[in-house]
Amino acid sequence: MITYPFEYTRAQSLDEAVALAAAEPDAKILAGGQTLIPTMKQRLAAPPRLIDISRLSQLSFIRRDGDALVIGATTRHADVASSADVMEAIPALALLAGEIGDPAVRHLGTIGGSLANNDPAADYPAAALGLGATLTTNKRSLAADDFFTGMFSTALEEGEILTEISFPLAEKAGYCKFPNPASRYAMVGVFVAKTKVGARVAVTGAGSCVFRVPRMEAALNADFTSEAVAGISVPADDLNSDLHGSAEYRAHLVTVMAKRAVEAANRT
Ligand SMILES: Cc1cc2nc3c(=O)[nH]c(=O)nc-3n(C[C@H](O)[C@H](O)[C@H](O)COP(=O)(O)OP(=O)(O)OC[C@H]3O[C@@H](n4cnc5c(N)ncnc54)[C@H](O)[C@@H]3O)c2cc1C
Repeated sequence: MITYPFEYTRAQSLDEAVALAAAEPDAKILAGGQTLIPTMKQRLAAPPRLIDISRLSQLSFIRRDGDALVIGATTRHADVASSADVMEAIPALALLAGEIGDPAVRHLGTIGGSLANNDPAADYPAAALGLGATLTTNKRSLAADDFFTGMFSTALEEGEILTEISFPLAEKAGYCKFPNPASRYAMVGVFVAKTKVGARVAVTGAGSCVFRVPRMEAALNADFTSEAVAGISVPADDLNSDLHGSAEYRAHLVTVMAKRAVEAANRT
C-alpha cells in the first residue's frame, strides 16, 4: 500500500487557523471531514497539512439577528435540523438539513464545509442561493449569487475561511429534493422563497453548479402557486447525465420539485 505523510493541527482559534493556512498554501481546512477524508482515502487529494477547525466553538452557533438567521460555519447539519430557532425562523432550512445523508453525516458534516465544497448535488447551496444568503469569511462578505462559481468551486481564495452564513428571513420558503436512494444527495433539489425583494428559485443536483431559474421566479412574482411553475421547464442541454438519470429526466424533475417546493412553502 502506498502511504503519504501529512501534518495535522487542531486550530485553537480562528486566527491560528488563518495564520496556518496562509503559511502553507496547499494545506486544507478540515471541518466535518465527510468529504475531505473520503477524498484523501481515494488519493484524490493529498494535502501536506490538515487544519482542523471542527472544534472552534466560536464558529458553531445559530442566532437570530434582526431579520436574518445567522449560522456559524462549523455548525453541524444535525444541529441545524434540530434547532427550534431555525424551525421557527426558516423551517425549510431545518427540514433540508434533516434530509442530508445519514445520521453519521449529519452529526459530523458542517454547513460551512458543505458550502465551501459546493458539490453540484449538495443541498445547502440551494438554500443559500434560494434565500439570497450572505457568506462571511475571515476577509469579507459575499452574496450567494457571487459565491458559487462552478462545479466544486467557489469565490473562496486560497486560505480563506468561511466563518458564518446569514440567511434573510423569507415570507415563505420551501425545499423539495428527489434524493439519490444510495447517498441521499440530490438527483435534483429545488429551493423556492418568497423574499422581501421577490421570488427566488435555486436548483441543485441538475447541473454542474447550483443555479437560479429566472422564468420561474418571474412567474412566482405574479402568482406564488405551484400552478405558476407547472408549465415551465429548463432546457436539458447543460444538465447532468449519468447512470442515475438522463439530462432530460433531470429537467423533468426540476419542474416537479419546483411545484412541490412551492406547495411546501405555501403550507408554512
Ligand atoms: C455518505 C454521504 C452522504 C452524503 N449525503 C449528502 C446529502 O444528501 N446532501 C448534502 O448536501 N451533502 C451530503 N453529503 C456531504 C456532507 O454534507 C458533507 O458534510 C459536506 O459536503 C462537507 O462538509 P464537512 O464539514 O464534512 O467538510 P470537510 O469534508 O471537512 O471539507 C470539505 C471541503 O470544504 C473545505 N472547508 C470546510 N470548511 C471550510 C470553511 N469553514 N472555510 C473554508 N473551507 C472549508 C475543506 O477544506 C474541504 O475542501 C454526504 C456525505 C457522505 C459521506
